[in-house]
Amino acid sequence: MFPWGGERRFNAYSHYCRTHFGGRIQKLPVDAGFSCPNRLNRTQGGCTYCANNAFSPSYLAEIKDVVSQLKQGKTFFQKRYPKNCGYFAYFQSYTNTNAPLEILRDKFEAALNMPDIKGLIISTRPDCLSEEVLDYLSGLNTRTHLTVEVGVESFHNETLTHIHRGHTVECTFESFKELCSRNISTCAHLIFGLPNETRMQWLSDVQILNQLQPQFVKFHQLQIFKNTAMEAEYRDHPERFHPLSADDYVQFLCDYLERMSPEIVIERLSAEVPPRYLAVSQWNLLRHDRLVRKVEEELRRRNTWQGVAVDVTTNCQPFVSTERSNLTNNS
Ligand code: SF4
Repeated sequence: MFPWGGERRFNAYSHYCRTHFGGRIQKLPVDAGFSCPNRLNRTQGGCTYCANNAFSPSYLAEIKDVVSQLKQGKTFFQKRYPKNCGYFAYFQSYTNTNAPLEILRDKFEAALNMPDIKGLIISTRPDCLSEEVLDYLSGLNTRTHLTVEVGVESFHNETLTHIHRGHTVECTFESFKELCSRNISTCAHLIFGLPNETRMQWLSDVQILNQLQPQFVKFHQLQIFKNTAMEAEYRDHPERFHPLSADDYVQFLCDYLERMSPEIVIERLSAEVPPRYLAVSQWNLLRHDRLVRKVEEELRRRNTWQGVAVDVTTNCQPFVSTERSNLTNNS
């Protein structure tokens, strides 16, 4: 039994769902028709890797309203997992706080009124959480299981500028501080492999993640999508990229997990999109579940687990009680 009370060597989301909801919880992706301010009116067309169509199930593009999308998602997953399970409505596509409050309210309440929806996951950017939206989310948080998924991607301002994220790492810290102070659960989304970053940097950055203390994390290896600015950069400047092989990624993840707070629940360890979207093929299509098994095998071989190398008394002080100057940023 590991510190989180589970048998697996990392604090897995499936264990969290079983503990808190008594069984499997399936996320139902929703495209609520929101846009992204970074694509529309800020830096040069958005993040250089952005291919939002690759991130969302294709059926969402054809169905406009939230309720129909959720019904369709439920039908799909009921065939796949016929045993009873609950659902989260996952507002996934683009920036799901980028609309007037009354529109946000309509979409989120429509989802909440559906039977079997046990909570909402709202994915957004750190710079799209106004006071008004935060206060609304705070109220929502008292009525349902709410998680706000924040695109962190990198803890380095040079990288954020380079990939045209359109916000700073200080903005990221501020968004977590605001969400934490309202007791809203957070999920930090991180990408490993962005241009000019190195494995040593990511291993050092885990301390910042520990101090941010999101409840959940999602890790993605960098994937380069067709027809993106990053595809052109990769073609012109391959020296800026340090892709990890599948075996190296497994080793890196184990090193990272050993240093990561045992309290952070892991939603994803890698990304998986249909190969037709990829400009650069990866890992001979190593499937996500195989990668997870390899990580668990490696942790078992090392006889280590998530957080084994963390001194929780010094390294994992909650962000809300931590002065920002204490955060270590190597950028
Ligand atoms: S924040 Fe997301 S949707 Fe917006 S440009 Fe970046 S990757 Fe695309």
